[in-house]
Amino acid sequence: MHLHTSYEIGGPAQLYALPASQAEIIRLLLFALEHDVPWMVVGKGSNLLVSDDGIPGLVISTDAYHKLTRDENYISAFCGVSLKELCEFAQENGLSGLEFASGIPGSVGGAVFMNAGAYGGEIKDVLYCSKALHPVVESLSSDNPVLHIKAEEHDFGYRSSAFQSKGWFHLSSVFKLEYADPDEIKAKMDDLHQQRWSKQPMEYPSGGSTFKRPEGYFAGKLIQDCGLRGYSIGGAQVSEKHCGFIINKGGATAKDVSDLIQHIQATVLERFGVELQTEIRKVGRW
Ligand SMILES: Cc1cc2nc3c(=O)[nH]c(=O)nc-3n(C[C@H](O)[C@H](O)[C@H](O)COP(=O)(O)OP(=O)(O)OC[C@H]3O[C@@H](n4cnc5c(N)ncnc54)[C@H](O)[C@@H]3O)c2cc1C
Repeated sequence: MHLHTSYEIGGPAQLYALPASQAEIIRLLLFALEHDVPWMVVGKGSNLLVSDDGIPGLVISTDAYHKLTRDENYISAFCGVSLKELCEFAQENGLSGLEFASGIPGSVGGAVFMNAGAYGGEIKDVLYCSKALHPVVESLSSDNPVLHIKAEEHDFGYRSSAFQSKGWFHLSSVFKLEYADPDEIKAKMDDLHQQRWSKQPMEYPSGGSTFKRPEGYFAGKLIQDCGLRGYSIGGAQVSEKHCGFIINKGGATAKDVSDLIQHIQATVLERFGVELQTEIRKVGRW
């Protein structure tokens, strides 16, 4: 899985599938459910810490499930489309609202699942509706397996959505955008790109912000105030550029990153009494 995660870390998946159609996704899910094979869906792997021992069962990658269409000021995107492609498509079509997401290295499916956000914007601000699958045999084998989910039914919160609580498989979403000058949209995207590269350790593999923002604090500042800037375990290091990121300095294992996460959590709790929750999702055999 190290080839499929932004951390460049992770042991093998037992089975790895790249479905290109809704019918193939349904067949794979039915196969897994009917044969008691554990399964999980992976987008761009930019929010994952995959165990060194890999992932048991079936990994369904959404990379090949990929389509972008526009109807007036609405854009429809399949889950495997990258946010970069989605944002560039919106910009070329003179549609504004997604600029905040252009530097987030995830897929549409992962972004809806996480309610990804940056620079004051979140997926929930532009999402109109989604299509999903309920991964249980009765639903998948019915005549109408696709759920149609309205914006308000996504139950969006800070880095959370109904896709997490209900376990749905995200197929596609429609985004409602505003008409704007393509050059102005591009200028905004370029500005945010520059801000990101100047403040975040984009030159190293990472999983983005390691921790969620604790209420009333900034995780990076707490970590910095504990004197942990640059602290490392094996190949994993608290970024010198932004303490909210744990980077793979070279040859880091999942265990290195996981041990560093635990060390940071214990230190911040002891020093400030604040419990840091991970934004990064640990998956696989631990
Ligand atoms: C350098 C860097 C910067 C980042 N900056 C930001 C930022 O500014 N803001 C932000 O919010 N995030 C940021 N992230 C984190 C990450 O990019 C987002 O969380 C992104 O939305 C994850 O998408 P993904 O496709 O990579 O999901 P993955 O990492 O592949 O998966 C994440 C979770 O989503 C689930 N999932 C993926 N696809 C589907 C689907 N089709 N149906 C159901 N579940 C699915 C997976 O099972 C998993 O639990 C950053 C990451 C990096 C590496």
